[in-house]
Amino acid sequence: QKAEWAKLVNEPTVTKDGQHVELAANIGTPNDVKGVLENGGEAVGLYRTEFLYMGRDQLPTEEEQFDAYKAVLERMEGKPVVVRTLDIGGDKELPYLHLPKEMNPFLGFRAIRLCLEEQDIFRTQLRALLRASTYGNLRIMFPMIATVTEFREAKAILLEEKEKLVANGVQVSDAIEIGIMVEIPSTAVMADQFAKEVDFFSIGTNDLIQYTMAADRMNERVSYLYQPYNPAILRLVSMVIDAAHKEGKWAGMCGEMAGDPIAIPLLLGLGLDEFSMSATSILPARTQIKGLSKAEAQSFKEKVLAMTTTEEVVAFVKETYQV
Ligand code: PEP
Ligand code: MG
Repeated sequence: QKAEWAKLVNEPTVTKDGQHVELAANIGTPNDVKGVLENGGEAVGLYRTEFLYMGRDQLPTEEEQFDAYKAVLERMEGKPVVVRTLDIGGDKELPYLHLPKEMNPFLGFRAIRLCLEEQDIFRTQLRALLRASTYGNLRIMFPMIATVTEFREAKAILLEEKEKLVANGVQVSDAIEIGIMVEIPSTAVMADQFAKEVDFFSIGTNDLIQYTMAADRMNERVSYLYQPYNPAILRLVSMVIDAAHKEGKWAGMCGEMAGDPIAIPLLLGLGLDEFSMSATSILPARTQIKGLSKAEAQSFKEKVLAMTTTEEVVAFVKETYQV
């Protein structure tokens, strides 16, 4: 099987009926890029920048960040790289920020909420990204966006930093796409409004499932609720994809669900454009997708979205696709 997969490293991901989807990888450091290319990744769909900030006792400087972003962009040789701005909080703590303890860290002062408040931290990261933008195909993504206002504020800060750099004679790419993670139900519900203003969506199902089902993603005792194939999740995912397409934008997914063999036929049928997963899942996913017909998967869309339970969805996929 490994030998079969290896043949697909440099192949595009095309369905039986000739439809292309993008298979991208999630990474945490520049060193991960090697594995992405070896496994045939067509893009980096999620670069989690938290690791630059973690395991140390002070914030990374603009130069340190610039070096890391530049390294990833260069090593990807012009392939798209979606960099997510700082998503700290919840399960990822930064002791040196001395933030007050919270009762509900997953619902608290984190990610874009923190960045819009502690703007020095945010602006430093954005400058590093903007300066690195000329070394490849950069896309910038904001995490944990809950309202259109947050997105507008974040984007305005990004554009401000860009103008300042350009005014100082620094080269900045004019082709940077600006998108958001869709991982809070309010944002999925309002996707039609967001789609008018963002360049792309990336659905973060790890959190979207947790927040939709009110079930902690790390709590075993409620894991029966934490189900990607729950029809409630599928409906939200479908709404987001449809909203993006209506405005001519693309929709990806960077949660674990995107690399799951049971979810893949469903997501293809809902029209997902980009699937971002751990590098080692890319070749198995490409093999699977090459054997699927997008038109057929799409013909099941209404039926699947009308299902009542997780079990019903899973049984349908297993029976239809023998996964
Ligand atoms: C997600 O929430 O789905 C996601 C990709 O981000 P993280 O797992 O880093 O929260
Ligand atoms: Mg998340």
